[in-house]
Amino acid sequence: MKPFDVIVIGAGASGTFAAICSAQKGKKVLLIEKNDCICKKLGITGNGRCNITHTGEIKEFINCYGKNGKFLYRAFNSFFNNDLLSFLSSRGVETKIEDNGKYYPVSNTADTIITVLRNSLKEHNVRIKYNSTVESITLSGNTKTIKLKTGSENYEADKIIIATGGLSYPATGSTGDGYLFAKSLGINVTELYPALVPLETREKNVKELQGFALENVIISLYAAGKKIATETGDMLFTHYGLSGPAIMNLSGYAADYLNKNEKVEVAINLAPAYTQESLKAELNKEILKAGKKIFANGIRKFIPSKLVPVMTAVTGISENKQCNQLTAKEREIIVDFISAFRLEITKTRPIEEATITRGGIALEEINPQTMESKKIKGLHFCGEIINIDGKCGGYNLQEAFSTAYLAAENC
Ligand SMILES: Cc1cc2nc3c(=O)[nH]c(=O)nc-3n(C[C@H](O)[C@H](O)[C@H](O)COP(=O)(O)OP(=O)(O)OC[C@H]3O[C@@H](n4cnc5c(N)ncnc54)[C@H](O)[C@@H]3O)c2cc1C
Repeated sequence: MKPFDVIVIGAGASGTFAAICSAQKGKKVLLIEKNDCICKKLGITGNGRCNITHTGEIKEFINCYGKNGKFLYRAFNSFFNNDLLSFLSSRGVETKIEDNGKYYPVSNTADTIITVLRNSLKEHNVRIKYNSTVESITLSGNTKTIKLKTGSENYEADKIIIATGGLSYPATGSTGDGYLFAKSLGINVTELYPALVPLETREKNVKELQGFALENVIISLYAAGKKIATETGDMLFTHYGLSGPAIMNLSGYAADYLNKNEKVEVAINLAPAYTQESLKAELNKEILKAGKKIFANGIRKFIPSKLVPVMTAVTGISENKQCNQLTAKEREIIVDFISAFRLEITKTRPIEEATITRGGIALEEINPQTMESKKIKGLHFCGEIINIDGKCGGYNLQEAFSTAYLAAENC
């Protein structure tokens, strides 16, 4: 008789929840974590406030994970946002909705969620081994043997859940170890990139805009001149380029195409309320009204003053030119700039600064009904380690909890 029915590697959001769910089913569970506490990364989510999930139906969620989203149907059907919220509320956690659908604990601190998870581990007698880094997993029949980096102990179980996270924010413990375990067992891991990450631009003049935010703009991402994706939302200029939710949501696509050495650009529509035609008409009206006013002052309605120097640099039109001297061609150039302020993306910020890892255990390797490896019986995966990444908004934590639940259900 082995002392544990299930061993979970990694006590992040996903592994911790998988351990709780397995133990709830009456399994004897060991949770192994390299840190001296659970959920180090969960503690910094949502700027420490933890955007735990999002409002919406399963179909809407699936669309937030790009082409791999369909893999999550079964996991979401087993355990979705309402189940997560019930789990929390039954343990006294009140939640609130902000920003068109993001759920946060009313306490405004991720610690509330971590405390609930810690108490649940205790309640269900999950044995936790802290400060223990798993070094390898070996197989002998159905038995999986887990060797730790330090100490001579080995742990054996027939069922293992690997929940070691991805590569982002490695200081929280996610250093990609699970990918190595998978590879050593003959399981394919896709290429890994940063996602939900700020972007660097070729244009250095954005540096002057550092700290300047644009709200509710439409941003399109182009690769080799072809439109790949569009996001509406807020963005921020930084000393190296662009950040903010709308940019982060496009960053995974940027990483995909930069990796293929394609030219990647973003086009920011600064006046999304107008069509190109209505913008042209409105601009002409404003310019006519402005008469002898200098052009920089005449178009304030469409462009925040902070952006004027960049616009004049890009368009070559002097900001001191009088409105009534603007030629038809120059007006066209201004309309083009307002509706598509283009910046070339040279790279993403490094994966250490990314919110999530794009890529991971190849989806073809995992049965989406059970989260079990198709090659190795009794070996399951959950959380960020899987080749799925979602948008900002609580989608990644919901994925971590839902896949954890499904893995535990099938152990
Ligand atoms: C700054 C930041 C903010 C974020 N904000 C949000 C948000 O508001 N909402 C949202 O939905 N998502 C957010 N995310 C994403 C979210 O944090 C992740 O999707 C989620 O934490 C993934 O959970 P996980 O359990 O799979 O991995 P992790 O949380 O990374 O946990 C993996 C665990 O495995 C342990 N481990 C790794 N290797 C070993 C080993 N060899 N032996 C033992 N233990 C090991 C690690 O120490 C770690 O504790 C944010 C991410 C970051 C970086």
